[in-house]
Amino acid sequence: MKVPFLDLSLQHQALREQALAALAATYDATRFCLGKDVETFEDNFSKTLGYPRTLGLNSGTSPLHLAAVLAGWGPGDEVIVPAFTFISSAWGVSYVGATPRFVDIDAKTFNLDPSAVAAAITPRTKGIVIVHLFGQPAPMDELLAIARQHNLFVVEDCAQAVEAKYRGTPVGLLGDVGTFSFYPTKNLGGCGEGGALVSKNNALFDRAKLLRVHGMGRRYYHDHVGFNFRMDGFQGALLNVKLPHLAAWTARRQAIAAKYVAGIKLAEAILPSVQDYGASVFHQFTIRHPRRDALREHLAKHEIGTDLIYPVPLHRQACYASLGYPEGSLPVAEKAAATCVSLPIFPELADAQVDHVIAAINSFAG
Ligand SMILES: *Cc1c(COP(=O)(O)O)cnc(C)c1O
Repeated sequence: MKVPFLDLSLQHQALREQALAALAATYDATRFCLGKDVETFEDNFSKTLGYPRTLGLNSGTSPLHLAAVLAGWGPGDEVIVPAFTFISSAWGVSYVGATPRFVDIDAKTFNLDPSAVAAAITPRTKGIVIVHLFGQPAPMDELLAIARQHNLFVVEDCAQAVEAKYRGTPVGLLGDVGTFSFYPTKNLGGCGEGGALVSKNNALFDRAKLLRVHGMGRRYYHDHVGFNFRMDGFQGALLNVKLPHLAAWTARRQAIAAKYVAGIKLAEAILPSVQDYGASVFHQFTIRHPRRDALREHLAKHEIGTDLIYPVPLHRQACYASLGYPEGSLPVAEKAAATCVSLPIFPELADAQVDHVIAAINSFAG
């Protein structure tokens, strides 16, 4: 039995008629940049997920860039970023000329370790990018207490955590700004690039909205140096078709994760743990094993796709070599990168496929 790591075609075939009809309507109305489809999506996203307002954008990296501008970070400022995440989490910091200060993660959750964050604060620390990695909310109470104490601007990178809640609050509303990605592989994926910004702070939101369209309030009058971060009409239309399915897709991801947790019995394997402050929406189901490469080969022989997310932590990436983090400087992140393997987890996986993955893992002799 074949189990691909991810198969986007199943979801898109199931929605084909509806999606093409929505795209045709947008095409016929020539609503290509922002426009009614994007506004409707922004409203639907806000209402469905509990945000006061939502700003539709052209990627999940753009809101991280906007957040860095809104924060006022610049040269000489340090911003705390987890070492184990997708590179975009650090891009906004770098784009405005500030310096990412990479910090180690908690071995249990893959998220920022609050004690490591506290230890990394310097007089130059101006902010923190908190990532809810793999869909698991980060320990916000502890992180926000540190942020408050040191007056830090807090960005929540929710790219992998759409629909997740921290003690009942939707992720993205606890910090100053929350950011989302609708890249096709995300839990809510478009047919192309897309992203969003949310904020409980109206002034920040309004400023982000101006910056999205060239810093332009009145047509051709530019109050700020802005960006072109507009969401396409097609993406808005498509995301409107998909959003009503998100709750069921999330529930299915969580059911698959529960099957994995109950079924996988492999010595030395570390599985995602459950946190009482907020359930994961399981963008990834990432386990760790000391002989990760052999385990991957074993699964490949059983026609099971896996992925390495992420093979290199950010502080060891070539683009950040000049920051001078030696090997061994952030050991938990480095160990995670060396031992992690992500298993197939997407809503369209069949129970028989999940059972096949579990049986194959349990038959790994190591
Ligand atoms: C996907 C992702 C982003 C943004 O990615 P885009 O490809 O720009 O949409 C940012 N942070 C994390 C953690 C991500 O996984």
